[in-house]
Amino acid sequence: MKQFDVLVLGAGMVGIATGLQLLARGRSVALVDRRGPAEETSYGNAGLIQAEAVMPYAFPRDLRVILGVLAGRRTDARLAWRALRHTAPWLIAYARAGSPAAVMATAQANLPLVREAVPAHRALSQRAKAEHFWHETGYLRLYRDTARLERAIAENAAVRERFDIPFEVLDRAALAACEPHLTAPMVGAVHMTSPARIDDPGGLGKAYAALFQAEGGTFVDGDAMGLEATAGGGFRLAATEGEVSAREAVVALGPWSGDLLRRFGVRVPLGVKRGYHRHYKPKGNAVLNHLVAEDDTGVVLTPNWRGIRMTTGAEFARRDDPPSPVQLTKMEPLARALFPLGDPVEPVPWMGARPCLPDMLPAIGPVPGVDGLHVNFGHHHLGFTLGPATGRLLAETMVGEAPFTDPAPYRVTRFGRLR
Ligand SMILES: Cc1cc2nc3c(=O)[nH]c(=O)nc-3n(C[C@H](O)[C@H](O)[C@H](O)COP(=O)(O)OP(=O)(O)OC[C@H]3O[C@@H](n4cnc5c(N)ncnc54)[C@H](O)[C@@H]3O)c2cc1C
Repeated sequence: MKQFDVLVLGAGMVGIATGLQLLARGRSVALVDRRGPAEETSYGNAGLIQAEAVMPYAFPRDLRVILGVLAGRRTDARLAWRALRHTAPWLIAYARAGSPAAVMATAQANLPLVREAVPAHRALSQRAKAEHFWHETGYLRLYRDTARLERAIAENAAVRERFDIPFEVLDRAALAACEPHLTAPMVGAVHMTSPARIDDPGGLGKAYAALFQAEGGTFVDGDAMGLEATAGGGFRLAATEGEVSAREAVVALGPWSGDLLRRFGVRVPLGVKRGYHRHYKPKGNAVLNHLVAEDDTGVVLTPNWRGIRMTTGAEFARRDDPPSPVQLTKMEPLARALFPLGDPVEPVPWMGARPCLPDMLPAIGPVPGVDGLHVNFGHHHLGFTLGPATGRLLAETMVGEAPFTDPAPYRVTRFGRLR
């Protein structure tokens, strides 16, 4: 049996970064996954390190938006009606957490994590020699209509005033200079200048995983659902190549985190917002320089090493139900009107699930009632961004260092009784 200080369960961006932060603090760490590192949600995302994303993706308050989703008219969000019996309790909790006061509390709690996101990634990327994945160009939110653009400018100005998040406004000519190959008639754009774009999110995750191994961490192939508490304290797991054990364990299984916690009698309100991506070859010599997001349609296109990656917004469905092509099918003609896309690169779109708690904050810290068990999951739309920052926060609290920010807003106990 191989003995470690900590077993980190899940080798997505969150688990890998948590493992690295623990190693840096002198702990011996095994990172357990049933697949290779960063091959699930941390592979399929849009690759933005969202230094601007203080305001959460909250439950909509605009009745027109809600009715549009219910009627299946929108492309940015989709409700799978057949799954509603299962998803309704989470959706109700999400709606309850969408009041203006609750949204502002989430934004306030997001702020220190989001501020730490780029520096924490940059430090890891330097050590992992992974800076070639970075493009520090920010991203563009595109508008076809002057009134919508002006509303977006006013909203962003309020966020800048309150949280010091920078942005620039591009008029039609400035946008055309930045992105000469866009084909839809835009009146302008809001340029979020602080985020970084990664052109291969899975590649960055794998580079961090290689750093983890180079710095003395052990990668273990196995099924995390086999984790057991041992009689003398600590945990053990029968992995593919033998048993591993540790005094402490961290659940960083992204959208699967609730499954393991249930085995320890702990219930968390973890839901998912499913999302899809597909790559397309650009037509002719067309080039896309930034990630572009069209607010009205929800179309997101980003240059990726495999082609132009189109990602979708939220699908409210059960995590394990079969993929539905609805959003991508509706979005494809809108995306083709925006940028000259050629043939799809892969025959079948990718699907993943954003792990979401109702208040759109992650859960970080100890699990009450299970000695030595910690969590770092529920990073919703921002797990790729926040993995290194939340990994740092959890590692600091586990080793008894002064944390860089107060961990209280992220405690899993904020949901009340868990058993
Ligand atoms: C379409 C889309 C676009 C997105 N765009 C962005 C973006 O631009 N920026 C951003 O910050 N975030 C983005 N996100 C969100 C982000 O991708 C997620 O929040 C993040 O990847 C979650 O990381 P994680 O490490 O928690 O989970 P994961 O990456 O899913 O990792 C969980 C790991 O657990 C492993 N696992 C599961 N079950 C078991 C088991 N039984 N045994 C062993 N291992 C197991 C899996 O194999 C996996 O490796 C996007 C998400 C989607 C779907």
